[in-house]
Amino acid sequence: MSAKTMLVTGGSRGIGAAIARLGAAAGWHVAVNYASNEEAAARVVDDIISTGGEAFAIRGDVGEEADVIAMFEAVDARFGRLDGLVNNAGVVDRKARLDEMSVERLTRMMRINVIGTALCAREAVRRMSTSHGGAGGAIVNISSIAAVLGAPGEYIDYAASKGAVDTLTVGLAREVAAEGIRVNAVRPGIIDTEIHASGGQPDRVAAMRGLVPMKREGTAEEVARAALWLLSDEASYSTGAILTTSGGR
Ligand code: NAP
Repeated sequence: MSAKTMLVTGGSRGIGAAIARLGAAAGWHVAVNYASNEEAAARVVDDIISTGGEAFAIRGDVGEEADVIAMFEAVDARFGRLDGLVNNAGVVDRKARLDEMSVERLTRMMRINVIGTALCAREAVRRMSTSHGGAGGAIVNISSIAAVLGAPGEYIDYAASKGAVDTLTVGLAREVAAEGIRVNAVRPGIIDTEIHASGGQPDRVAAMRGLVPMKREGTAEEVARAALWLLSDEASYSTGAILTTSGGR
């Protein structure tokens, strides 16, 4: 039988890259999606192939329906099956209060983090659901502890987008539970990646570390291990679960 395959959105850097690498090490064939950093995606793919795995990179903005459709068609063409989807692609924005936020900012946040997650999950369900002739599968959404904390004064738009991801996880899990698909989420806390610099706060990890009960940030690999477990058959009776990986925060 051919190997199981997964698509990791935003698999070029940070948590997504760790999931892609760890997934490949566990025997999955991996489609590595990225938005614009082709070099970073190529590095992940090269690392996987050089260690005997199978992977390819695919550009696409998860918030654009045409890109998402093309991305899943590329996975169909290359792998001929889809067993796992990790909805990891996500963005933050500059630190701001709601009364300072433009509609363009709010729209971008929801388009990438919420609509992107929903569109990719839709394409996965169309392929995996036994009611569509599929063989089942697993979806893991990457949420954030911000969904619970609200991120006041920093980015409540981001927090709200992750709240929507949590609700989408629970609802979709129940919607497709009898069709062979499990849908779960990982809810990371402060993780050491480039996302903080992309939001204009390169020192955010150091500044927040003291607020974490474990008194340290998490690594992308620590989040990846949680995601891989939820994707795997080891989690066969878990659906609609949200696994918090935040050092106790
Ligand atoms: P990151 O280091 O900034 O990496 C983001 C990844 O997403 C990159 O691969 C990027 O591609 C991709 N991406 C961005 N916008 C995209 C789009 N529109 N379409 C497709 N791909 C897109 O971020 P990270 O810290 O690993 O975060 C990954 C996920 O974890 C996000 O959903 C984030 O909200 C969540 N999270 C992170 C933390 C944390 O502290 N780091 C905490 C909680 C939750 P390019 O390389 O092409 O730019």
